[in-house]
Amino acid sequence: MKICLVGNPNAGKSTLFNTLTGLNQKVGNYSGVTVDRLVGKLQLNQTSAELIDLPGTYSLYPKSLDEQIVFNTLLDPNSKSHPDLVLLVVNATQLRRSLVLASQIIELGLPAILVVNMIDEAYESRVNIDKDHLEKELGIPVVPVSARKKIGIKELKSSIETHSMTAAKSPATVETTTVLDAAKAIINSDNNYSTLVQLILAEKSKGITAAERIQLIELRQRHDFKPMQAMGKDINQRFLQSNAIMSTMPSELTPPISSLSTTQKIDKILTNKWLGLPIAFLVLSAIFQAIFEFANWPMDWIESGFTVLNSWIAQLLPESWFRDLLTEGLLAGLSGVLVFIPQIAILFGLLAILEETGYMARISYMLDRLMRKFGLSGKAVVPMMSGFACAIPAIMATRNIKSWKERLI
Ligand code: GDP
Repeated sequence: MKICLVGNPNAGKSTLFNTLTGLNQKVGNYSGVTVDRLVGKLQLNQTSAELIDLPGTYSLYPKSLDEQIVFNTLLDPNSKSHPDLVLLVVNATQLRRSLVLASQIIELGLPAILVVNMIDEAYESRVNIDKDHLEKELGIPVVPVSARKKIGIKELKSSIETHSMTAAKSPATVETTTVLDAAKAIINSDNNYSTLVQLILAEKSKGITAAERIQLIELRQRHDFKPMQAMGKDINQRFLQSNAIMSTMPSELTPPISSLSTTQKIDKILTNKWLGLPIAFLVLSAIFQAIFEFANWPMDWIESGFTVLNSWIAQLLPESWFRDLLTEGLLAGLSGVLVFIPQIAILFGLLAILEETGYMARISYMLDRLMRKFGLSGKAVVPMMSGFACAIPAIMATRNIKSWKERLI
């Protein structure tokens, strides 16, 4: 069984992917493009499944390369990642927005489970997620989880397992009709989503002839049909729908506006227009300094350890090429490499703290505009800083950057 993780950027797909697969994962590429294709093995009670982490997307209309990949994977049955089941990952604190993508996937008949992630944050901000209400409104199973705190993972696995036993073997896929049929249907039916999708699919397929393309342009002009407008209208309608679902949610508790949560209070200072950057600069400098300061002691220990070992071997063995090989070759070489381990360990420890506390996301957010000018995202700041210390941990730290191209830059 193939299962795809689909959701908005930052919904927590990668975190869920890691929680579900552990270390059982490998990275490849989608054919012809340099977007990472992450695949892992999900072990269930009775069986196992292939879990694929798709790029983040806001809707099922292909505009960027990432969205194109998601669109093709979900709608082309011949795609090597085409799923038997979609795990729709949504952020519990941003359900209104996330339900737009969810509704498109459900409408296309793709078998799906709605995974309401970050339930811990929703709980903290006093947003109640009513599972029964969502299941009734959307018509698919809903599982609240926290990928980070590993809450609800057992329930999610058993929901996947139940699905794998009961679901029809071949999921519904959109049938590609000819481009002209799809165009006529959509023009006549006044914006029907699945026909609109058919039109996009048919137009993108290589099979369309030059004559058909001309006819299509004529048809569009005659009816004054603008696909972008039709898509916009569709998205608007979906927003209204998701608003309706959310406003009828029985026990939606909105946080009282006056009392900000602790995170919001801290954020007000950390991402403040004037204070944010100086604080970020201080934190990054502290990290930079810590790498040197703290690493000095273990580096000294390693160096003196090797010196002691070296002189011990030098005394123990008679003077020979073999002794030189050991002391001046092997041990000197080893110490030259091992001496950097403390720096790398400290850098990674500190980066993990920045990442897990969410401060990295704040730094990236604040520096994003500046870094965009150089074709980079805000996330490139930390590897760049550590590059002043040593290129190797800097290169290793780029693993936090998701885009392959940005990592290379
Ligand atoms: P992706 O873009 O969908 O792959 O999202 P990520 O997995 O990178 O997660 C985005 C951010 O949300 C990261 O900082 C995660 O640590 C955080 N995150 C993910 N899952 C949870 C969760 O269940 N609870 C909380 N509080 N944060 C989470």
